[in-house]
Amino acid sequence: IFNFCAGPAMLPKPVMQQAQSEFLNWNNTGCSVMELSHRGSEFMQLASDAEADLRELLNIPDNYKVLFCHGGGRGQFAAVPLNLLGAGKTADYVVTGSWSKSAVSEAEKFGNVRVIDAVNEHEGVKTVLPSEHWRISKDAAFVHYCPNETVDGIEIFDIPETGDVPLVADMSSTILSRPIDVSKFGLIYAGAQKNIGPSGLTIVIVRDDLIGQQQTATPVILDYKMTSDNDSMFNTPPTYAWYLASLVFQWLKDLGGLDMMAKLNQDKAQCLYNYIDSSDFYYNKIAIKNRSSMNIPFFLNDDSLNSEFLAEAKTNGLLALKGHRIVGGMRASIYNAMPLEGVQALVSFMQQFAKRNK
Ligand code: PLP
Repeated sequence: IFNFCAGPAMLPKPVMQQAQSEFLNWNNTGCSVMELSHRGSEFMQLASDAEADLRELLNIPDNYKVLFCHGGGRGQFAAVPLNLLGAGKTADYVVTGSWSKSAVSEAEKFGNVRVIDAVNEHEGVKTVLPSEHWRISKDAAFVHYCPNETVDGIEIFDIPETGDVPLVADMSSTILSRPIDVSKFGLIYAGAQKNIGPSGLTIVIVRDDLIGQQQTATPVILDYKMTSDNDSMFNTPPTYAWYLASLVFQWLKDLGGLDMMAKLNQDKAQCLYNYIDSSDFYYNKIAIKNRSSMNIPFFLNDDSLNSEFLAEAKTNGLLALKGHRIVGGMRASIYNAMPLEGVQALVSFMQQFAKRNK
């Protein structure tokens, strides 16, 4: 079975197998890891090892804190303006698709937001405007963007240059898929449930100087200073999700780190895009330079075959290929845990389906 769900998504098989083997007795404690006190030495060690592994994988500079939070991506849609958007300030929000648009709607509740629409659509093909043309305000409190739009299948590979204005990125569906230069960002956040672990955990990587500017009414659960001062344990953290994330980080390190992961992800994405482009039965609507390597929407020329495609795919062990309701068609999410064999199996099914329905 290969699960192409956009999230929550599958975890790497070796991670699931390890979690299963130590479910009832973790590290010879006689307990499940989820039963241990988050303040006890055993869990604290796990937590700090996980952070060290993440720091190593992403090469996170020392002047950045890593916070392990609740609340998912949407929690951060609120937390970012609550912590970084002081009274009288304006933040620039770059909109490239569905999730960056949702981030705007939430941020507008907490401060002034200026929207920069950065997608061009020409003859049905979408392209992201290069960041030099975003016209970022020099006095913006921060610039928010979403490097990978999960719903639309749009990815921005180059890091925008924003000068002294802190760059904030929603990396929910791209984090850990390839190396990134963290030092170019003020803040990065990501819901765990694509490349990190199960839902329930949210990672925030934030530069030290951006901590401590929260609005007075910021709930403590969204307060970066409170979370940072208490090592992400002011309230009870999602300990089991944190543990699974620690296994994912180890799996990535064993695999050879993010350079290796990026190469695998590129091979997977190329395999699917190459077939789509070579076929006159399927098509994709995103300009080549902005095609996501994680979420690949595609369409059948004859969309009356959609239901049949999905039903037959399911029978063939290829799950959750239905496109998002806003976009329609199909979507294959091929996060880190998806092996190349999964994408090859999908392409082979697509070839056979096309042949049978021509
Ligand atoms: N941002 C992006 C890019 C997403 O893909 C998602 C969910 O898929 C979210 C935000 C919302 O995340 P959550 O459901 O964890 O609030």
